[in-house]
Amino acid sequence: MAYLFVSDVHLSNARPESLANFLGFLGNAARRAQALYILGDVFDLWLGDDDRSPPHTVVVQALSELTRSGTPCFAMHGNHDFLLGKAFEAASGCRLLPDPTVITLYGTPVLLSHGDSFCTDDEEYQRWRAYSRNEANQRAFLASPLEERAAQATTIRKHADDRAQLKPHDIMDVNQTAVHKALRAYGVRCLVHGHTHRPGVHQLPLDGEPATRIVLGDWYARETLLSWDESGYQLGSLAELGLSFPP
Ligand code: MN
Repeated sequence: MAYLFVSDVHLSNARPESLANFLGFLGNAARRAQALYILGDVFDLWLGDDDRSPPHTVVVQALSELTRSGTPCFAMHGNHDFLLGKAFEAASGCRLLPDPTVITLYGTPVLLSHGDSFCTDDEEYQRWRAYSRNEANQRAFLASPLEERAAQATTIRKHADDRAQLKPHDIMDVNQTAVHKALRAYGVRCLVHGHTHRPGVHQLPLDGEPATRIVLGDWYARETLLSWDESGYQLGSLAELGLSFPP
């Protein structure tokens, strides 16, 4: 039995293939996992736990069936679904984890994070992150009607997309110094994160010791998962990890 990790599924009605793929995964391979960790942005947009726009209800139901079947499921906030709250936890059976969180896998301490906090070269984004993760700002936002929140989100997203087109590619990747700082602060030598949609395994020696940064990918054209069992870890698609399910 393996621990499975995903991030950046970005579920929305605009991506029916990703939705079908993820629901199939929850009903099959995820049932056989030791635990499932969702490291942020499983939803493309979550405007609050009262946001029941499709496909939210069907996904929450599928997560609930997974957790009731006996697979523990942990979810972390991403920058698209940071308003997942207590009602989501109750309905899905998922437990929300703070970002970052350290877990121990077969004796190895591993730091889990969505990853956007390491993108410190993008100062404009970090200002938005600080504003949007502020509790008082979130309370004020959640107090407005759902339609108003949806309209605001559309404006914010349009602005973010326009700005992203003007930014050099590297500015939106993680900053190595920020990663090293976090590894040191938590006393770990392995980080698993998403957010950048640039899947890969990077070696980044730290203070004379080997250190590893594992990056999950999105689920757009091809899904990426991390599977970690007693023999080690593997990053790949459902098929590559032997986790495919019958169509
Ligand atoms: Mn993200």
